[in-house]
Amino acid sequence: MKTYDLVVIGAGIHGAGVAQAAAARGLSVLVIERREAAAMETSRASSKLIHGGLRYLETAQFRLVYECLREQRLLLQNAPHLVRRSDFFIPVYRSSRRHSWWIYLGLCCYQLLSGGSISAIGKVPPQRWESLGLNRDDLVAVFRYGDAQTDDQALTRAVLASATSLSAEVRFNTALSQVAHEAGYRLSFSDGGAVQCRALVNAAGPWVNEVAELAALPRQDLDWVQGTHIVLRQPAFPGCFYVEAPQDGRAVFVLPWRGLTLVGTTEVILDHPQASPTQAEIDYLLAVYNHYFPAHKCESWDIEEVFAGVRVLPRDSRQANRRSRETLYATAHNGTYVGIYGGKLTSYRATADKVLQMLTPALRDAMRPGTSTAELPLP
Ligand SMILES: Cc1cc2nc3c(=O)[nH]c(=O)nc-3n(C[C@H](O)[C@H](O)[C@H](O)COP(=O)(O)OP(=O)(O)OC[C@H]3O[C@@H](n4cnc5c(N)ncnc54)[C@H](O)[C@@H]3O)c2cc1C
Repeated sequence: MKTYDLVVIGAGIHGAGVAQAAAARGLSVLVIERREAAAMETSRASSKLIHGGLRYLETAQFRLVYECLREQRLLLQNAPHLVRRSDFFIPVYRSSRRHSWWIYLGLCCYQLLSGGSISAIGKVPPQRWESLGLNRDDLVAVFRYGDAQTDDQALTRAVLASATSLSAEVRFNTALSQVAHEAGYRLSFSDGGAVQCRALVNAAGPWVNEVAELAALPRQDLDWVQGTHIVLRQPAFPGCFYVEAPQDGRAVFVLPWRGLTLVGTTEVILDHPQASPTQAEIDYLLAVYNHYFPAHKCESWDIEEVFAGVRVLPRDSRQANRRSRETLYATAHNGTYVGIYGGKLTSYRATADKVLQMLTPALRDAMRPGTSTAELPLP
């Protein structure tokens, strides 16, 4: 039976990132993915932003924002064909819950945490408001700043391609079905195959606890929170808009996506890990869009596509949008098992580095001081 240093379950952004970091350090790595290709679940259903997360400043998640902005800089450097800078606009109305000074303070803090890499923040002059397409009734200010966008599926596939170029192996259409832990791990798969490994990383996204259960491995208490997006057949506006949903004050994005307009997202707590957008979420997003862009009104028949993804958030009594977005880990068997809970597309590389640090005591003998992924261009 073939033996690997490391087997990674899941070929979303986290599985791909861990495989890349491990292969760069000379470990023999196998990635197991039950779908037919990489990034077929959460990692293709995100808002496609490579960002620090301006709104996380409201919940004082400064470390997370700082880390994500650092990773944004690295991605702009290592994957300029996949990650691009975009202009973001925040309109403030007389009725907005967040006042101009609050937005300005947030943007100054965001710029500071970015080490100055967030391009000049400022106000859009009123004579330019019309060109943005926004509702101008009771509009008092429009702030502008720079952040970044990507194609999440293409990014994930590029990270996995980087891992395979460093000799990681990948098996698609293969689900993990059994785990036995003796000296190392013996893994059995849905296709009847089996392998052995010294260490195991569980990057199964919303299914992380399901995979942990297979081997009586430790689990974290989590909530599944669905986020839905709609793609409107409305030609893309010249920038990204960060608006406040009139219904409940939540932050919602209106973004250019493949020439059309992407609106998202919602936050609905599920009792299962499978994403499935509801009519109520679609109506909510359409109402947010029409509130801000009445001159470009869209109806349900203008919807080109609807997609949803599921976040893993620590279980907590707070509303989903007030909870920590820090990645959590579960470890076991003397650091030979790591489970990844939650996380951001933007910070996948930092997450992978942390996982590798956790595995280092167990795999040190097989590791070489390989290339840091911080300087590795993506294909
Ligand atoms: C609505 C929404 C919007 C978001 N927007 C952003 C954003 O704009 N920017 C940002 O930085 N982050 C964003 N995020 C967060 C980011 O998208 C996720 O953290 C990230 O994609 C999770 O990736 P993952 O690899 O952990 O999980 P996934 O991408 O879900 O991958 C897990 C993989 O494991 C596989 N798997 C499961 N069980 C098994 C098994 N038994 N055997 C084999 N394979 C298995 C699945 O098929 C899947 O491919 C968003 C998240 C959501 C939900």
